[in-house]
Amino acid sequence: MLQPAASIHRLGTESAFEVLARAQKLADRGRDIINLGIGQPDFRTPEHVVEAAVKALRDGHHGYTPANGIPALREAVAADLHRRHGVEVDPGHVVVVPGGKPTMFFAMLMFGEPGAEIMYPDPGFPIYESAIRYSGATPVPFALEERNGFAFSAEAVLEAITPRTRLIVINSPANPTGGVTPKEEIDRLVAGLEAHPQVAILSDEIYSRMLYGGREHVSLLQYPQIRDRLIMLDGWSKTYAMTGWRLGYAVWPEALVDHAIRLCINDHSCVNAATQYAGIAALEGPQTAVDEMMRAFDARRRLIVEELNALPGFRCIEPAGAFYAFPNIEGTGMSARQAQDRFLEEAGVATIAGTSFGAWGEGYLRFSYASSEESIREAIARIRACL
Ligand code: PLP
Repeated sequence: MLQPAASIHRLGTESAFEVLARAQKLADRGRDIINLGIGQPDFRTPEHVVEAAVKALRDGHHGYTPANGIPALREAVAADLHRRHGVEVDPGHVVVVPGGKPTMFFAMLMFGEPGAEIMYPDPGFPIYESAIRYSGATPVPFALEERNGFAFSAEAVLEAITPRTRLIVINSPANPTGGVTPKEEIDRLVAGLEAHPQVAILSDEIYSRMLYGGREHVSLLQYPQIRDRLIMLDGWSKTYAMTGWRLGYAVWPEALVDHAIRLCINDHSCVNAATQYAGIAALEGPQTAVDEMMRAFDARRRLIVEELNALPGFRCIEPAGAFYAFPNIEGTGMSARQAQDRFLEEAGVATIAGTSFGAWGEGYLRFSYASSEESIREAIARIRACL
């Protein structure tokens, strides 16, 4: 009898991958499935970015790189953060990793152990809770509520801090709600954290380029008073339609950066070299493809919100960022899971139950609008028929 460690049974998962597999199975059996479940842009990686990777391979960049990423890429990240957020970042504090997720896992492993508490948003990206549990720490969710536009409440977060709290995860713009937390609320959180100097912050800013209605992203990097305990996560997956390349980074505080690099050395050695060159081209090249993608997302966002609000039993607030709509479906009389399963089986439309993102997601469904306007219209028409 094999004896895997107990910790392995504490790992959760990301339902989007399971729904994707179920949708694929139905498609293989000949069903016409519209997938509004998956969290990735339906655009191609910009051509000049692909070319940079091809060139890197042709030029012979086939070997290991420094574990934290090639210096030119880390310098490009620092320059990009200066351009976008007006902040000074030491390229030596940038650690390049395969996507957004490894930073999360590293942060949980660094701070999590039995007896420790780690706070995270609910509904929120499911890997937060999974990785916290895996570390042995106690996951402490804080609620994101529809009536606040799914922004976090600084007061509620600060009230839940205990002497055991080691790390707080925040995510704006957010998955799965599309919520964006206003600057005043972030100001209040940062001010309140001054009373808790032992608490670190993981700010997941993977959707930092995806805001609507003229909103500007507020990065936690813009608060010098917490820079010594801030881990700021961002990456290329969503902004440059590069989910499959596996490229992301974090800016780590001075006290943690060597630990992060050591985790890279133990875990994956480095991100594959050609992808890193593609990452430089993405940051330094023309940004027109990003702008075009965001214009398309904005049009789809308005379309899907209007269509969802016209469905019986649905109520959907306007998402301010990312590419998800998170309608309240309580009026249909179905639970989130029932609605997810029924729309997939009967209407051939893949969505994700809000409860896949935590208990506070009951009564909600996540729709990704990273899909053509035509398929959004068709998906909603099918759901209407099903209802
Ligand atoms: N953080 C959030 C909030 C996300 O929604 C995702 C992906 O869906 C990630 C991080 C992970 O990104 P990556 O695919 O680069 O690991």
